[in-house]
Amino acid sequence: MHAEILSVGTELLLGEIVDTNAQYISARLKEIGVSVYRRQTVGDNRSRLTGAFREALGRASLVIATGGLGPTDDDLTAACLAEALGLPLEFHEGAWEDMLEWFALRGREPSPGDRKQAMIIKGGIPFRNKVGTAPGQAVFKDGKLACILPGPPREMIPMFEEHVVPLIKSTFMDLVPLYIKNLKLTGLPEVRVGEIIKDLMESASPTVAPYVSRGEIRIRIAAGSKEPGEAKRMVDGMAREIRSRLKEYIYGEDDDTLESVVGEIMTRRGLSIAVAESVTGGLVAHKLTNVPGSSRYFKMGMVAYSPAIKATCLGVPDEALRKDEAVNAETAVSMALGVKSLAGTKIGLATTGFAGPTGGTDKEPVGTVYVAVADESGTEVERFVYSGSRIDVKEYGAVRALYVLWRRLSRSGKNPELK
Ligand code: ATP
Ligand code: MG
Repeated sequence: MHAEILSVGTELLLGEIVDTNAQYISARLKEIGVSVYRRQTVGDNRSRLTGAFREALGRASLVIATGGLGPTDDDLTAACLAEALGLPLEFHEGAWEDMLEWFALRGREPSPGDRKQAMIIKGGIPFRNKVGTAPGQAVFKDGKLACILPGPPREMIPMFEEHVVPLIKSTFMDLVPLYIKNLKLTGLPEVRVGEIIKDLMESASPTVAPYVSRGEIRIRIAAGSKEPGEAKRMVDGMAREIRSRLKEYIYGEDDDTLESVVGEIMTRRGLSIAVAESVTGGLVAHKLTNVPGSSRYFKMGMVAYSPAIKATCLGVPDEALRKDEAVNAETAVSMALGVKSLAGTKIGLATTGFAGPTGGTDKEPVGTVYVAVADESGTEVERFVYSGSRIDVKEYGAVRALYVLWRRLSRSGKNPELK
């Protein structure tokens, strides 16, 4: 069996929005063992949309469409699917009651146009929308399954996961799902990672593929098998091999983030941290505090941008501030020590650098970032030079700061003398 995805909306054709829905659905279908053979984008046009549904249903056993479920006149998806299937739309009391409840919870009254959203294709199953008003729906006909979902990703994704995935699994029983594990690493350039695992990337099953985002790499390992436990065994074996080759750079798996992993270590060991940032402008503090429960260890974040603030609030000496406009190792270390003592924490973390696009000095070009960490056993500082936009340099710098912190925490965890 195979699937097709239909993205509905003139905005998509005009290039005003990016079709992240089709990308999301494709990726998830692959994981649950469904092949996607075709994707189409259609504007808000009755005859073209009906035609697209007819064609897709003529070829595929599963058709999933997103967008055009709202109350306005250009929202045509349910009507066009009904027409393509040769079925009428009927007012659905249950779907309408769900919508009324949604409005009541928010102290709002539905308008007459909203009733249109409770029109469900005869014999179809409405999907309750927890985030917005428009229900999704699924219809079975002639051994085929068609699902239509709202356009906004924050409505589409929970509905897809909660309703569509279980429905696909129970309808098409012989799917071979993929077992997937992601290893997360940082601190090593992509080319180096590629060289180190080159032979493994040629493996047909499990597949091994690195994906790069700013400053971080995710290695996705995936395998499918009809034998229970076999895919997991293959993936775990591959993960062990990759870990043995890249262990000092792998900080976590799947949903782990650098900030969640350092947070876990600090919580476990009763450590606390304060951050003084120049070049990263608060991004390190932002990332650290994105983790639920971070108040247990995160005590203070300071954006010490001007030399005067670095001197008066953090005690950075004048000589350090004068050298390369305060972009140097000594400044970073004094900032880390300064904020640690100011906040009375066990750890101080600091960044200084040139985000650009102009500036820099002969010795320290735009893109230079110094990261320093100070703790009870001493200090450590590293210099990196990144290329890219101002935002890239800030982001890379912040990720690197968390990496340096993680590395120090995990090393000291392994060596009790370092504490
Ligand atoms: P609404 O009730 O909000 O009108 P809808 O189901 O009618 O929802 P659309 O009107 O097609 O959906 O799109 C609403 C918004 O959802 C778009 O402006 C866009 O922000 C987002 N959206 C729609 N389709 C996609 C898509 N394929 N990928 C990403 N975002 C999308
Ligand atoms: Mg709409």
